[in-house]
Amino acid sequence: MNDRPAPVGRTLGDQEALLSDLDAFIAGLPKAELHVHHVGSASPRIVAELAARHPDSKVPHDPEALMDYFTFRDFAHFIQVYLSVVDLIRDAEDVRLLTYEVARDMARQNIRYAELTVTPYSSTRRGIPDAAFVEAIEDARKSAEAELGVALRWCFDIPGEAGLESAEETARIACELKPEGLVSFGLGGPEIGVPRPQFKPYFDRAIAEGLHSVPHAGETTGPETIWDALNELRAERIGHGTSSVRDPKLLAHLAEHRIPLEVCPTSNIATRAVRTLDEHPIKEMVEAGVLVTINSDDPPMFGTDLNTEYGVAARLLGLDEAGLAALAKNAVEASFMDGPAKARLAAEIDTYTASWRP
Ligand SMILES: [Zn+2]
Repeated sequence: MNDRPAPVGRTLGDQEALLSDLDAFIAGLPKAELHVHHVGSASPRIVAELAARHPDSKVPHDPEALMDYFTFRDFAHFIQVYLSVVDLIRDAEDVRLLTYEVARDMARQNIRYAELTVTPYSSTRRGIPDAAFVEAIEDARKSAEAELGVALRWCFDIPGEAGLESAEETARIACELKPEGLVSFGLGGPEIGVPRPQFKPYFDRAIAEGLHSVPHAGETTGPETIWDALNELRAERIGHGTSSVRDPKLLAHLAEHRIPLEVCPTSNIATRAVRTLDEHPIKEMVEAGVLVTINSDDPPMFGTDLNTEYGVAARLLGLDEAGLAALAKNAVEASFMDGPAKARLAAEIDTYTASWRP
């Protein structure tokens, strides 16, 4: 996977040292993450805590057995494990614990700000009252910011596979309860057989309430889905957008209108949206002038984290420290932070980079 060419005059050993220097740089780099799912961020440590609260569940309780449980044999197995984790989120305290502990895992990676994709419908349909759900995530958000220095914001997303009923419920919760941390409205789940335009009325409602539009599109379908997301759902950012490179007009449109892509390289391999990392189209996106951000999607489920994804991006794009800092600043620019917060985090990235000594 490592296709970073060895600089002239360096031995392979030097190159390895260079890569581990880059990894160290990435680890300390202040970062923002824009595409990461709530339940999909439950690490084996968090799942063990949740499983201990619900001893009747089939999920193993001890972290070692869980590591094995999290080793996916195929995509169907991944879905099975994902659903068994969803099954552990049974009351508001589970929601609060999961949210706060996800922020703790982010703090360890120097993630300072994250727009977490939350699917309230998965919890409300399981009987957690909407107000209790919202109170739990908001309580975790405030504690995470005060105690861990991680600012969480929410993207409430429609699980597309659950149909229009879930869209109605998600829009209702977003617009009626409108928690302080809510910044955007999204659409996830499978794309094949789930046309984007049917969700237009729900996006219209959310946008009228001041929320930003950030649907997933063009992950497992072609560029036409991304056009639908732009034209019908008024997308301001695109989740994945992997197939955009198949349409030069679309790439030019994304670049011209500064519509960022939330790129998640390892996830694309895990879901087979892209065959191998070497075939990942991230370089074409960057070369077309598109604002690219790096994200982890469902990190423990795909055996990754945001730092690992920055390392992957460094290899695919041939980036040094300055290039990685620029990538981190793309996420700040593409985020829905206010102006002063963006300026603060960008300045922090600059200070860190200027003072970096391997
Ligand atoms: Zn996603």
